[in-house]
Order: sequence, then structure tokens, then C-alpha cells
Amino acid sequence: MKRDFDCDLLVVGLGPVGDVLSALATLHGLKVIAIDRSPTLFPLPRAAVFDHEIMRIFQAMGVAERIAPLCRVPDRYQFLTADRQVLLDFPVAPVGVFGWAETYALHQPAVEEVLRIRLAELAVQVELGVAFVQCTQDAAGVTADVVADGEARQIRARFMVGCDGSWSPVREALGITLDDYNFDEPWLVLDTIIENPGDLPIVCQQLCDPERPVTHMAMSGQRFRWEFMLKPGETAEDMLDDARIHALLNPWQCSDRLTIERKAVYRFHALVAKNWRDGRVLIAGDAAHQMPPFAGQGMCSGIRDAANLAWKLAAVIHGSASEAILDTYQQEREPHVRAIIATAIAMGEIVCLLDPAAAVGRNAAMLARKAAGAQDVSVAYPDLVGGFLTETPQAGALFPQPLAADGDRFDAVLGLGPVLIARTPLATQALPLRVVSLDAPELAKFAEALDRWLADAGADAVLIRPDRHVFGTGAAADLVSAWRAMAEQERVA
Ligand SMILES: Cc1cc2nc3c(=O)[nH]c(=O)nc-3n(C[C@H](O)[C@H](O)[C@H](O)COP(=O)(O)OP(=O)(O)OC[C@H]3O[C@@H](n4cnc5c(N)ncnc54)[C@H](O)[C@@H]3O)c2cc1C
Repeated sequence: MKRDFDCDLLVVGLGPVGDVLSALATLHGLKVIAIDRSPTLFPLPRAAVFDHEIMRIFQAMGVAERIAPLCRVPDRYQFLTADRQVLLDFPVAPVGVFGWAETYALHQPAVEEVLRIRLAELAVQVELGVAFVQCTQDAAGVTADVVADGEARQIRARFMVGCDGSWSPVREALGITLDDYNFDEPWLVLDTIIENPGDLPIVCQQLCDPERPVTHMAMSGQRFRWEFMLKPGETAEDMLDDARIHALLNPWQCSDRLTIERKAVYRFHALVAKNWRDGRVLIAGDAAHQMPPFAGQGMCSGIRDAANLAWKLAAVIHGSASEAILDTYQQEREPHVRAIIATAIAMGEIVCLLDPAAAVGRNAAMLARKAAGAQDVSVAYPDLVGGFLTETPQAGALFPQPLAADGDRFDAVLGLGPVLIARTPLATQALPLRVVSLDAPELAKFAEALDRWLADAGADAVLIRPDRHVFGTGAAADLVSAWRAMAEQERVA
């Protein structure tokens, strides 16, 4: 076994999650090797939408301005009855509290291409056509056996993260099992290009028709997706037949104008890995959790994992926190992912109802509640709890990203490390983080918004983590001590 290290971090799998983790870890000063068994990018879309938190993470990576023009901002996401009454309505704010539009419809391969270009700009050592096989660990690091062009070799890293998708060979190698929600629905997914969409509706919709539940998404540019639920007795083979597909698309009267880019039958699952860390090896993204796509949050959740993990790995490797901080990754991320899975399943249970009588009852009940001003499903996802956080007001929330009058975004001032913003200046000797006074010139454009936020939180100061979650609010000196103590406590734990 090699004793010296090839890298600080070995990232296995370069889907969107591995791309983001590799970039952020590099920006945090780690030497990263990223491998993928495929020599090329996966050419077909899977994710249809992502949200403003993810665009903010892309911003931290330095690619948001390149990705935004590739995407379309939808007006809303709706769940409709067969006769087009609105059961659920999620309007999309063009600028949300995190400084970006609340939802973006994307073409996943185009976005992933930008992420890969960014890895090249950051000089990440990307090795394609290299497959992870297995690994061993010792007190200092991980040794991964990989194979490329039939040749076996080893890569030695201080830590390794499996971002290697739903079948995750890394998860398998660690023997980690999955918790299954037993949500298991087969759907035909059709990706199409329509050069002349004409009056085809530009929408993101779920048609909750018990005759045939359908998803219809106008993605970016000329790309449109339909998803058709399989009914009992229907097989993948039946559904993939072109004549059948054209019959399914009949109501949209566009079969003569479209090119089918991809047709596949997917089984939508809800699964969560029982352990996300085994010593120096962790898993993230689909390797750690999978969910049905009704909330459009599978990739988003994986990218949040990457943002949560990158700075913690860097803190450990740079010696500013103990390895125990890595346990806070699953502590913080798992409840968040489970809340989103619950939302995705609640949405799926509304959409996937095939019994016509039950659908009549569902519609009546939901429409009555909606008329009374209530909506059955919320997409306000929870704050982080537990983990590397204080128990102060707003701790665990994602800090907002105010926009200045000239359009500048607040995070540009924050940089990548932890930042304490305080009304009362703090004596600055050997602090483990950057301290900025509320009256500092660099905050001038945002001071009013920050002042309001601190007043609402009833706090003199806020400590913002590198992933933009609030570590805590209160007195500046207390927050610095809590950060130090928590890192030390973790070291002792
Ligand atoms: C129909 C559908 C619709 C969806 N819609 C949405 C949506 O609207 N919004 C959303 O956020 N999410 C959505 N998702 C989910 C989203 O596509 C996934 O969550 C996301 O792509 C997972 O990213 P990942 O990087 O974790 O894994 P992947 O993208 O699967 O990447 C894993 C990578 O690991 C590599 N790999 C595997 N084994 C090895 C090995 N042994 N060695 C080296 N490399 C290896 C693979 O080649 C691959 O590149 C949807 C999914 C589906 C199927």
C-alpha cells in the first residue's frame, strides 16, 4: 500500500454532485482527484429543474452567470385535475430571498458541461474512464483500487467521497444498506426536442388524471419532457413502442413536430442510506439518497450535500476542526433530505392515484381546502438542526442573499470561509474566522438589509458558515467562543 498521498480528497463519480464537491473542495484549498468510470459526460437529461439554493452554490463555484442563460425560469409549478382545476400551485418568484429565481428549468447535460469546464479552470485532476473497484482504510487515509483500460492501480487519499450515483459501488464496498420507503412507481420518461413549439403550453405541470397521470415540463430552449405513469399490467416494452408513444402524445398535437431524444422507463424510488460516513469514506448525492422526482429535488439535495461536506472536509484537512465534524454531515443533511422525500412522496401520492372514485374524493377535498386558503403540500423545506450549529435564533437557517441596488449579490462580500458580521466591533486576535463590522465599507451596499435581519433576529451579530447556513446569532464574542468550543468539543468527542 502506498503511504504517501496522491491527494487530500478522492471524489468517485463526476455527476453533478461530484462536480460540485470537487470544485468547492478545490476552492477551499484541497488537492482533489476526481474519477469517473465513464469517458464522457452522460449525454441525456435527468433533472428537469433546480432551485435558488443550488444556483447560489453554483455562484460560489463561479459558474452561476454562465448557467443562468442556459436555463428557463418557469412562472409556476402546478398539479391539475383531469379537467384542469388547480390542486396545488407553486408560483416561482423571479428573484427569491437567496438572490436568484426560485426555480430554473435546465438541460442537465448543458449544465454539467459548464461544471466540467469549471473543474478544468480550477485545475482539478479529473481522470475519466477510471472506475473505482474497492478501498481499504487506515488511520491516516484511504487507498482506492481503480481500474482504467483494464489496468489496475491505486489512488491514495486522506478522504474519499462516493458521488457515484444510485448503484454506488462505494456504498456497496462499505456494505452500507438502504432504508426503503417502499414508494416504487414505474414511469415512462420522454425527452423531446420540438423546433417549432407553436402554441404548445410552456408549463411545469402534473396532470393528476386517474386515467393516466402525466408530467409535462417545458425545459430550456426547445426541449420538452413528458412522463407517463405505467398502469398495472403495462410493461416497459409496451410503453417504449413508438406508436404507443405517439398515441400518448396525441392530446398535445405535436407528434409530427418532435424528435424523441430519449425514451426510458424509470422506477421512481425513495431510499436513504443508513450511514453516510465510514471513517475516511463518505457518500453523497444519489449514493446516499434517492427520491421520486415530483418535487424536483434529487439533484438539488445531492448538491446541498456537496456544499455541506466541502468546507467540513477542508476544515479537518487544514487542521481547524477534528474529524468528528464529519459526523455532523449526516446529522444535518439526513433530516433535511427526509423532509424533502416526505414532500416528494406526498406529491407522488396525489399524482399517482389511479382509482377514479378516490380521485373524485381527492379533488373535492383538496379544492375545498384550497378555496379556504390552504394548500396540502408545502415546499418550504426545514432549516438544518443539530450538527455544527448553536441553539440560537435562526441557527440552521440559510442566510438570505440580499441584492444591492446595482444588482451586486451579497455572497461576493462573504467569500468562501466562515464570516461573523457584528454591529459591535470585536478585538481581532487570532480568530478562527473573518469578522466584518456592520459599518465596514464592503458591507455598505447591503447594510440596510443586514441591519433589518439582525434586528428581526434580536441579535448583535450573526456567524455565517461557508455553506451560508447560520451557525448562530447573538453577541459576537459568544459566537466566536461557541465556534471554537464546538470545534474543540468535536475534537474531544
Ligand atoms: C426522470 C428523472 C427526473 C429527475 N428530475 C429531477 C429534477 O427535476 N430535479 C432534481 O434536482 N433532480 C431530479 N432528478 C434526480 C437527479 O437526476 C439525480 O439526483 C442526480 O442526477 C444525481 O446526481 P449524482 O451526481 O448523485 O449521481 P449521477 O448523476 O448518477 O452520477 C454518478 C456518477 O458516478 C459514476 N460512477 C458510477 N460508478 C462508478 C465507479 N465504479 N467508478 C467511477 N465512477 C463511477 C457514473 O459514471 C456517474 O457519472 C431526476 C431523476 C430522474 C431519473
